[in-house]
Amino acid sequence: MSPTIIAGNWKMNMTVAEARDLVTAMIPGLEAVVEVVSVVFPPFVALEAIGGLLRSTDVGLGAQNLHYEDKGAFTGEVSASMLAGLCEFVIVGHSERRLVFGESDEAVGRKVEAAQRAGLRPILCVGERLEERESGSAEAVVERQLRWGLANAGSPDGLVVAYEPVWAIGTGRAATPDDAQLMMAHIRATLVSVYDAAAAADVPLLYGGSVTADNVAEFMIQDDVNGALVGGASLVAEGFVELVRNAAAVA
Ligand code: PEP
Repeated sequence: MSPTIIAGNWKMNMTVAEARDLVTAMIPGLEAVVEVVSVVFPPFVALEAIGGLLRSTDVGLGAQNLHYEDKGAFTGEVSASMLAGLCEFVIVGHSERRLVFGESDEAVGRKVEAAQRAGLRPILCVGERLEERESGSAEAVVERQLRWGLANAGSPDGLVVAYEPVWAIGTGRAATPDDAQLMMAHIRATLVSVYDAAAAADVPLLYGGSVTADNVAEFMIQDDVNGALVGGASLVAEGFVELVRNAAAVA
């Protein structure tokens, strides 16, 4: 069975000093919840400092993005091999990367491959826009993103997939748990067709989009939901710890 993972994506928030304060305030509460793997995703510039603070804890660390090339003339970019010594996870294909920075399905697939090659655990994000849901193409869109994302992937070991409907991110309007489960079942079925049933069952599937301490349990009790990718609610220590605790209560 997949372990429960609660991932906190801090996005472009927190100076290094603020990030240190935030994670220091979270560590005791997160460490007390042994049923859940908690992972934080600070900005690149804080990874080393936060890694130092997490070194003797069970709290995981990840980056928010990477470039698929290993090195070269790509000003401002960070490669998988640069991250490999700093953290374990990396978010790939977040909808903000796809929509604000124009990341293509193909680029996302190359990033998943680069992450795996460097021994990082990619969290491959997929999710439809509101107009795609309203036109009935949500499943097709998510399946296309998933297949491109895994086009060059190696073994599913270490892979995590996050379903994040774009219209639910940062809006306070989460998907219903039933709708999230329907999409997760479709994602699981697609993974079975890419890998096999046993391997697909081991890939943790995270729901993301306006998850809070109040609603996390409703998602966690769905058959194919193994955790959550959390944005806004991961930026306040007590709130994030409570969210992790509430997820553990039904894990
Ligand atoms: C996200 O950015 O991945 C996210 C899920 O954000 P929020 O929890 O704020 O909706």
